[in-house]
Order: sequence, then structure tokens, then C-alpha cells
Amino acid sequence: MRLVLLGGPGSGKGTQADVLKEKYNVVKLSTGDLLRNEIKNNTDLGKEAKSYMDKGELVPDSVMINILDKITADFEEKEQGYILDGFPRTVPQAEALSKMLKKQGVELSMALLIDVPQEELIRRLSSRWTCIECSTTVGYPNGKPDNAVCPNCGGDLYQRDDDKRETILNRMEVYKSNTEPLIKYFDEKGQLEKIDGLGQLEEISGRIITLFNEKDLD
Ligand code: ADP
Repeated sequence: MRLVLLGGPGSGKGTQADVLKEKYNVVKLSTGDLLRNEIKNNTDLGKEAKSYMDKGELVPDSVMINILDKITADFEEKEQGYILDGFPRTVPQAEALSKMLKKQGVELSMALLIDVPQEELIRRLSSRWTCIECSTTVGYPNGKPDNAVCPNCGGDLYQRDDDKRETILNRMEVYKSNTEPLIKYFDEKGQLEKIDGLGQLEEISGRIITLFNEKDLD
């Protein structure tokens, strides 16, 4: 399986990718996690990426395309399927992905849009906490309890710098102008599928799995 997950910031792409990777034995490739890891390790890439990410801007296409090229080649070599979470985020990135897959002689299985209205995205991001160890996210709409830790690994939780209100609004704008056009892009290629992203985590996973069954994706 080679899957692209589409959806606004906070639509649940990362959370669903975590569920799907276990069920379908594929790798989750989150460009956001990858970049935050570079920042944590204070690498040159991390330093460059941080200046964009803190403002809710996109890291330049040239940088992202370069990273992904290396990573997907690695997976193809190991014959391991993958879920792309956060890539592509612009039409040029999608074109680069398409070129890359063609070069590797393989096809994308599907681009799946997790559809969530903007007001709900803003509400989720403003109450979102992230695990410092494993990147699991947890929502606390009524405020985080003092003693809360990551439900997955027990690690400490923090609020991402870009989950602040002004930055959230900027990310929504960036999503609308750069990433929403990808919906049309994949639709025109006949690769787009869409599911309703409102509801409990398990319900949404259920919708995705039903869709995969219908499309014979495993
Ligand atoms: P979210 O989808 O919740 O906004 P991510 O963790 O996917 O969060 O991404 C956080 C930030 O990382 C983005 O706002 C952007 O600055 C940067 N980023 C991640 N993936 C890409 C990409 N493919 N192209 C450009 N920037 C990216």
C-alpha cells in the first residue's frame, strides 16, 4: 500500500496513520514528525525548518522533495508499503511524488481526504497536546489535567509552538491556498477518496477500513 493522507491541520491524519500502520503492516511517514525530530537534534535542516514551522509557513518545496526522494527509495528497496502523512502539501510536491513513483515503476494506491470543517479543526488544535517521546496527540477541550501523561507511552506532554491561536489561523490559510488544490489534483487523476472525519477515533478508522475493503486495498 502506498497511501497519501490529505486533510487540514488537526484532521486526524497522524492519529489514523498510527492505527492503519499496525493493521496493514506499513510505515507511517510523517514529514511534520520528521522535521520536529531534526529540530530536536539541532541539525542544519532542523534550524532551517524551524523558522518556517514556528510561523505556520511551509518549508520550501525544494527541501521537502529532496528529503522524500531519499526516504521512499529506501522503502521501495525493502518492499515496504507506506502512508504519507503531511506530504504532499503543495501541487509541486505532488508532481514530484508522481514523478518519483513513476521512476520507481510503482503506483499510488489512493489519496484519502479526511474531511473536517474548519471550526472543528481550530477547536481541536487549540486543545491539542503532543507527547514529547512518541508524538501521540491528545485533545483536552476543557484544559489538560496537571498530572496527564501520554496514554501511549507515559511520556510528558507539551503544546506545539505552532498550536497557538495566531499560528493556527495562519496554518488554515496556508492549507487553503497551498494544500486544498491537491484535492482537485488527485481527483482529476482518479485517485481521490473522501471520508467524514467527524466522530470518535474508532468510528473514523472503521470508515477507512470499510473503504479499503471496498477498494480491495490491503
Ligand atoms: P499539521 O498537519 O498538524 O499542521 P504537521 O506536523 O504535518 O502538522 O506539520 C507541521 C509543520 O511542518 C507545517 O506547518 C510545515 O511548516 C511543516 N511541514 C510538514 N510537512 C511539510 C511539507 N510536506 N511541506 C512543507 N512543510 C511541511
